[in-house]
Amino acid sequence: MSSRVLSESIRTLGGVGDRRAEVLEAHGIAALNDLVTWYPRKYLDRTNVVPIGKIHGDVGAVTVVGTVKVKGSIPGRRGRRYELVVADASGVLTCVWFKRVKWVESVFKTGQQVAFHGKVSKYGGGWSMPHPEFDLLDEKGPALDTGRIIAVYPGHAAFEEVGLTSRTFRRMLHALIRDRGEEWTDNLPATLVSQLALMEGRVARRAIHFPKSQEELDHARRRLKFEELFFFQLMMAAVRGRVKREAGPELVTGGTLVTSFLDDALPFRLTAAQEQALADIRSDVGSSSRMNRLLQGDVGSGKTVIAAAAALMAADSGYQAAFLAPTEILAEQHARTLVGLLEPLGVRVGLLTGSTPTAVRRDTLTGLADGSVSIVVGTHAVIQEGVAFRSLGLCVVDEQHRFGVEQRAVLYEKGERPHVLLMSATPIPRSLALTLYGDLDVTVMRERPPGRQPIETVLLWDSRREELHALLRRELAAGRQAYVVYPLVAESETLDLKDAESGFAELSAAFPDAGVDLVHGRMKSAEKEAAMARFVAGETGILVSTTVIEVGVDVPNASVMVIEHAERFGLSQLHQLRGRVGRGVHASTCVLMSDFKRSADARTRLEAMTRTEDGFELSEIDLRIRGAGDFFGTRQSGLPAFRLADLAEDGELLDAARSAARRLLDLDPALRQSVHLPTREWFETFILPDGLKKAGIG
Ligand code: ADP
Ligand code: MG
Repeated sequence: MSSRVLSESIRTLGGVGDRRAEVLEAHGIAALNDLVTWYPRKYLDRTNVVPIGKIHGDVGAVTVVGTVKVKGSIPGRRGRRYELVVADASGVLTCVWFKRVKWVESVFKTGQQVAFHGKVSKYGGGWSMPHPEFDLLDEKGPALDTGRIIAVYPGHAAFEEVGLTSRTFRRMLHALIRDRGEEWTDNLPATLVSQLALMEGRVARRAIHFPKSQEELDHARRRLKFEELFFFQLMMAAVRGRVKREAGPELVTGGTLVTSFLDDALPFRLTAAQEQALADIRSDVGSSSRMNRLLQGDVGSGKTVIAAAAALMAADSGYQAAFLAPTEILAEQHARTLVGLLEPLGVRVGLLTGSTPTAVRRDTLTGLADGSVSIVVGTHAVIQEGVAFRSLGLCVVDEQHRFGVEQRAVLYEKGERPHVLLMSATPIPRSLALTLYGDLDVTVMRERPPGRQPIETVLLWDSRREELHALLRRELAAGRQAYVVYPLVAESETLDLKDAESGFAELSAAFPDAGVDLVHGRMKSAEKEAAMARFVAGETGILVSTTVIEVGVDVPNASVMVIEHAERFGLSQLHQLRGRVGRGVHASTCVLMSDFKRSADARTRLEAMTRTEDGFELSEIDLRIRGAGDFFGTRQSGLPAFRLADLAEDGELLDAARSAARRLLDLDPALRQSVHLPTREWFETFILPDGLKKAGIG
């Protein structure tokens, strides 16, 4: 006996002929398991049923259950309508359809028990319910329709044509569970089920369709959600071929370099969050296993010094460190920071980018090969062939989501299993981080260094542009600088650029002495850098740009961030952009310029921005607005479509699933033990993509 029977075709079911099978298959219900996971769209709870006689003016939408007394279609001014008079013991209600009259005509019989759900309105002396949702009930046969909580399934026009109503789904599922349910072995190990107090698999599969009570339904949902999350985590492990923990170089964590850096060289004290991050890193690199950690810190939380400290632990132990950044602007900025902090300690820092002069590059390469350069900062240029290290012990990847998995892998190959520290300022809700990076350890820094002025965020209609100019005038007079950012959408790049260009012209005219500059994605990188350098040096007062400045740029004197067409930006992007100001001691302002017309989602985003500065809170809101599937846009694919689990809500369950999956694989990497065979069989039958089948799990 095994759960593999669920991979049989739905055509083996009674009542499913060719026509129905084709329709079902077209909707992704091909195997029995697809039917079992065709979960109800909602439930009709009989305890919420309203007696018809109790309906009054402001009940809104109600559910009633009654018997069809009279039915018929009636010609009217605007075509035929179909009416149904329904009665229960307390009164009478008329249900009306103006559309799809022919189809509803074929559905109801007099004397039939039906549940109706919808809004009611006054009709003659009584009540009517136009276009209700309905569910045919049945007094006879198994008590599928008369239980307290009745499952209602997703409907499709194509289903209706072959008579696949909610009632049919209940019938099919009831028969399947009755006849075959006994064969379904649990796909989770019994110890796990009991440890986590989960419902048994077979029971949960029955209860989700035929719950005896709300409590039982909740319990079933929890179990089935857990299952989805658990098997997803197993899949991540299989896909990455990572099951065992690898060994890595054991580093000295309290050596002279790191100690004098933290105690003497740093001009400030670490925040508590930074201390915690450092402690996490120490315990990783100080052990004999390899660090694989994601450091997530909101914009401006101070990740760079943490990376520097980690690099010094490598240097203290005779290893080198590589620090990868996604853009030349950022790489140069990091190099400047690190040179300033570390060269006084006698640590040599090199820079490698696409525009590094040949002689400097040759010098740096020699230094990396002989070990005299301890830390190299750079862009993709670092991962190129010909860049060889004497002993690479640590890889830091800043803004890690901007690099592909393969690119990171190439970097890691340049050392003997170097430690890996990934950093991201795109706050990802914890649940998503665990899903996407299930095999990473995650440190979150929520705190920002003290002394930062809060950023005031204001929302201005286009019509109030004069107020914006007044603010710019004031800040420029005080010696501050401003960014003005325009959206850049790939499909209409020319158009957007025109926008930015006319904004640039307008500001140049309005502020003739301020020094106004323009950077955009179409400029050569040398030009971009020159413009950035002028801004960093304070020669430019207003920098107009498309979103090329989005990540990482650190100019503490800038105190105004103007975002044009703010409604066109995503929430995390808005937050990133706002993070470019408020980096020094000056009070800063973020101005969101927006058209009055905007969608409800855009309004939610913009209002959220004015309400909070917490990137994690914003990303939770973003996740709720967009759903997990869209959260990363197209860049991050491979996010699963869970049927029940919701990453925005089921964070705790995800944690549990993740650690359970890890424990299981630590114990039995290839799931060979007999108690784990059902789990493995389920995984291989229903979860593993075909492309990976031959590799198996271990
Ligand atoms: P991010 O996490 O966004 O990469 P950075 O590492 O660029 O942030 O740090 C932002 C700024 O905060 C830098 O100018 C850095 O020197 C400063 N900084 C970092 N840590 C502290 C601290 N503990 N106290 C004061 N300033 C700090
Ligand atoms: Mg940074």
